This record gives sequence, structure tokens and C-alpha cells, in this order.
Amino acid sequence: MFFRKKKKDVSSNPFYKEGNSMKIYIKCGKCGYVMEFKILNDRDLMVSYDGVSAYMIDKLYVCPKCYNQISVKAGFKGNLKPAYVDINGGKFVAKEVYEGKEGER
Ligand SMILES: [Zn+2]
Repeated sequence: MFFRKKKKDVSSNPFYKEGNSMKIYIKCGKCGYVMEFKILNDRDLMVSYDGVSAYMIDKLYVCPKCYNQISVKAGFKGNLKPAYVDINGGKFVAKEVYEGKEGER
């Protein structure tokens, strides 16, 4: 085990691994509401054939406050490291922002 904690860069890797799932935190691009979404590795990861990633997700989330649609597309390598991340309609924020522990930088 190692205990060194790197500061997370959510623009390149917004995924917080939790067992067999991942969590992402998104700020709505329209109303600024910050929300949490869970990605179930078993259910949401699709096999990818694009040559740069092994798995991919293609999700459409709806902001519960203003009904703004936020699309998230991402590719993952075999070890579930993100190969690319693309978000439209909002932006990724750190878990600490969602929990209110940290302001946005
Ligand atoms: Zn919204």
C-alpha cells in the first residue's frame, strides 16, 4: 500500500474509484448545481474498439434543477485509467467541491 496522495486533476481524470464503481462530480453548466453520479463498471462500461481505449462510457445526465442535459463520454485503458474524457453542458469538479469542503479554483 502507499499513502502518498496526489492532488487530483479532475479535468484529465474525474473518476473516483470505489470498489467496482466510479463516482464523478459534475457542475451544471447552466445553473451551477453540483451533482454526484455513480458509474457501475459492470453495467456502464462498454467495450471500445476505437484503438485508444479498451472500455468507454457514453452517458447523458440531466440536471435535476434546470433540466440541462450534460453528456459525458470517456475512454478507458485496460487498467481503467482514462484515455480521454469529454464533457458537454457542464464541467467536472473535485469531490471536495461537491461535499462543500473546498471552493472552486
Ligand atoms: Zn442545472
